[in-house]
Amino acid sequence: MATKFELEDVVKNGTAGNGNGSRHSARTHDDPATTSDAAAVTLADANVQEIYAELLKRLGEDPTRDGLQQTPKRMEKSMAFLTKGYEESVAEVLHGALFDVDYDEMVIVRDIEFYSLCEHHLLPFFGKAHIAYVPQGKVVGLSKLPRIVDVFARRLQVQERLTQQIAEAIEDAIAPQGVGVVIEAQHLCMMMRGVEKQSSLTVTSSLRGVFKTQLQTRSEFLSLVRAER
Ligand SMILES: [Zn+2]
Repeated sequence: MATKFELEDVVKNGTAGNGNGSRHSARTHDDPATTSDAAAVTLADANVQEIYAELLKRLGEDPTRDGLQQTPKRMEKSMAFLTKGYEESVAEVLHGALFDVDYDEMVIVRDIEFYSLCEHHLLPFFGKAHIAYVPQGKVVGLSKLPRIVDVFARRLQVQERLTQQIAEAIEDAIAPQGVGVVIEAQHLCMMMRGVEKQSSLTVTSSLRGVFKTQLQTRSEFLSLVRAER
């Protein structure tokens, strides 16, 4: 029984409509009644909205009150959007947007706004990504860089991995002489809970190729990132 989650109440709620005063009396796992209940529904049988409704209940809320009735539906939709990166790939995004060029100076796109969810608390972290690369025969359509950021940001993330995945994707796509990615972000899990540091900015970077080996390239990139806007 320990592995079976009792979602019977919430499943009934989903089909039986309102007005049943007993629906808020959630059973505990130790309740002997649940072990012998042949109609018990496991967590795996519940749909996403039922799970969110149950979550609201366990937070101490009444998922049937006016303001919350549509909340499980909205949460499902919103969470699907915030994690849609799982269904996207860099290859799709870049399809037809790689160009052969003779240019070998630094290309930089900075202040790319992004929103992500930290994988530890499912709370937002958000900020700006700055991307630069020095081409080696190929460039990426400029509008594609923000889209590459979103492919990885719209997943459960940690900022360090997000930074690396963006750099790696550009490296794989166009094999440049080097690529640099800097991300500055604020984490609501730090701001709203825990240490409650409201204005702290977390900065991560991934520097590859000439951005790693050539001090001048690296300095140029970092000073462009820090320049007044
Ligand atoms: Zn967190």
